[in-house]
Amino acid sequence: MKAGLLRAPNTLVLEDVPDPERGPGDLILKVRAATVCGTDIRIYRGRKTAGVRYPSVIGHEFSGEIAEAPEGGPFRAGQRVCVDPAIPCGHCPYCKLGHEHICENLTAIGYEVDGAFAEYIRIPARAVESGNVHVIPDDLPFEQAALAEPFACVINGQERVGVSAGESVVVLGAGPIGLLHVKLARLSGARSVIVSEPSPGRRRAALDAGADIAVDPAAEDLAEIVRGATRGVGADVVIVAIGVPALADAALGLVRRRGRVNLFAGFSVGDSAKIDINAIHYREILVTGSFGLGRVHFERALDLIASRRIDVEPFVTHRFGLAGLGEALATAEGGSAIKVAILS
Ligand SMILES: [Zn+2]
Ligand SMILES: [Zn+2]
Repeated sequence: MKAGLLRAPNTLVLEDVPDPERGPGDLILKVRAATVCGTDIRIYRGRKTAGVRYPSVIGHEFSGEIAEAPEGGPFRAGQRVCVDPAIPCGHCPYCKLGHEHICENLTAIGYEVDGAFAEYIRIPARAVESGNVHVIPDDLPFEQAALAEPFACVINGQERVGVSAGESVVVLGAGPIGLLHVKLARLSGARSVIVSEPSPGRRRAALDAGADIAVDPAAEDLAEIVRGATRGVGADVVIVAIGVPALADAALGLVRRRGRVNLFAGFSVGDSAKIDINAIHYREILVTGSFGLGRVHFERALDLIASRRIDVEPFVTHRFGLAGLGEALATAEGGSAIKVAILS
């Protein structure tokens, strides 16, 4: 089959590789949609190396059609499915605590297990047994199902800061993740959602996604606008949805006393930032991080997408075949797309 092989940072080319072999309990999927994540770009560029193998196939947001399934198992060939790529071990201290997404032995499809930028993908028996494979409704397009993974991460992020009805939320960055944060905050009953984003196209997308105000941080005073929208006190919640280190400190200046900040976006290896520790101390700010997704977040995300409670239809703006993988990555990196999908 054809697969995009990551041989080294900056070297990802479409090659002929052996078809994946199905072990006992495994499924083989024909990949029908794989969407490109910001993390895929960071891996491709060598800015994220944790869990990355060379050579390997990356791509962890996907859906497809079962090509081979074990006899007598819960799945059969031809079913349309979407797969939660994060496979927890179930027995480490964090799994026991119920925080399986930060499992000490987490294996993920697209990292430790070959991913979805390929014609076919092997879903390990452990993922099948753990309930990571979900049959999707016939009327749900594959590309929308693939977005369950990033949306699940967003659900995990907002769980960390507990957005509730009537609150004000600021989202820094209106890439696909920022836009999903806007939609989820709206669904949770946020009173006002303010987005900060330098790109005019993305500001427009933020308003379309339900933001009340989309601020150009280069031309407008974001802190002033946030104060104006919050009776002068600052936002209840600030979510950093773009991996710019300086935004961690900027977030502290936007949140109210006892407000909550979520550092959602991943930063590059070795990044650090100067932050106002006195702001955290005197203003009793809660600063949280969030990483990845648990199975419960994936299920909720897929349910919300499949039921159209969250409409992700406008998110996929660019589509390529697998042969256009290089162009797909370049388009995702270029920033003009919201979400880029590789379809077959
Ligand atoms: Zn992702
Ligand atoms: Zn574990």
